[in-house]
Amino acid sequence: MKKIIAIALIGLTALASLPLFANGGGEKTDQKIVGIAMPTQSSQRWIQDGSYMKDILEQRGYKVDLQYAEDNIDAQVNQIENMIVKGADCLVIAAIDGAALFNVLEQAAQNDVKIISYDRLIVNTPHVSYYATFDNFKVGVIQATSLVEGLDLKNKKGPFNIELFAGSPDDTNAYYFFDGAMSILQPYIDKGQLVVVSGQTDFEQVATLRWDGVVAQQRMDNLLAAYYTDKNVDAVLSPYDGLSIGILSAVKSVGYGSAKPLPLVSGQDAEVPSVKSILAGEQYSTVFKDTRTLAKRASDMVDAVLQGKKPEINNTTTYDNGVFVVPSFLETPVSVDKSNVIEALIDTGYYTKDQIGL
Ligand code: BGC
Repeated sequence: MKKIIAIALIGLTALASLPLFANGGGEKTDQKIVGIAMPTQSSQRWIQDGSYMKDILEQRGYKVDLQYAEDNIDAQVNQIENMIVKGADCLVIAAIDGAALFNVLEQAAQNDVKIISYDRLIVNTPHVSYYATFDNFKVGVIQATSLVEGLDLKNKKGPFNIELFAGSPDDTNAYYFFDGAMSILQPYIDKGQLVVVSGQTDFEQVATLRWDGVVAQQRMDNLLAAYYTDKNVDAVLSPYDGLSIGILSAVKSVGYGSAKPLPLVSGQDAEVPSVKSILAGEQYSTVFKDTRTLAKRASDMVDAVLQGKKPEINNTTTYDNGVFVVPSFLETPVSVDKSNVIEALIDTGYYTKDQIGL
């Protein structure tokens, strides 16, 4: 009898260690699923955001489905639909077009899937639990301040010539960046110390669809040909490193950086090509937004919503998505130029010296 019980016990133990048995016959396990929908792999930052978040969430026991949509809105909607069908409990979304997700988020809500808006605000829907981002207005303030200080506007009368670029009009961040930058630049433009020679100062005139560097390069080529045949451009407000590289190519192709000095060009994201360009004395500045910090912040929000708890937030007034003000946590962006590359990007372990060619 004892022998039979022993054999039965061994059999049970063996069965219990089989995945099927542990899964209750293949039904959904207790392991929660998180879908991460990122916009594109064409920009280094989103690759880092995605992989940091995947690592953190997997370490915390989640199953993670990470997808990139290469800036194609329909592809992103399809990816999110698939995540819902595959049983996602929570979605972390950095939208390509913040207004294009209404229907798919209705579907998510019907399936009780929680939504975290990541870096970019999702608009015109009530189905967003929380928003993890950086202080986007401050990003613009930092970009413009670096140009103002680089031109030494406190001491030099100028006038200096400047051109303005903004980001994608379907990304709310682009407006916050531009408004932040103009809060610093407008007083100098009003005084005549800064002159926008093209006269293009409205967001719609200076926006860059899908944050595309080629589009920015073409616009800069056109500005140079139309307005700068007998003048020099001294500074360019650029909201993102990918655009800054395009803008620099345009100015270099007509002799800036050789026959005459390069204009000061701002940026954002501290992407490797731009950090190298800053070290080489070409791009003037960038804004470092530590993707490790944001990934951790969003992962904490995922934990909280799936455990029915409230995550830490530090802003309940700024991010009105057209339906309600989304409770947010704003991380702090950091200004980077040649003088603090090491301190901001190497000492913090964000890059190795090797990665940025030092
Ligand atoms: C992000 C920026 C990024 C830009 C282009 C914005 O929404 O906040 O960090 O430079 O998109 O990808």
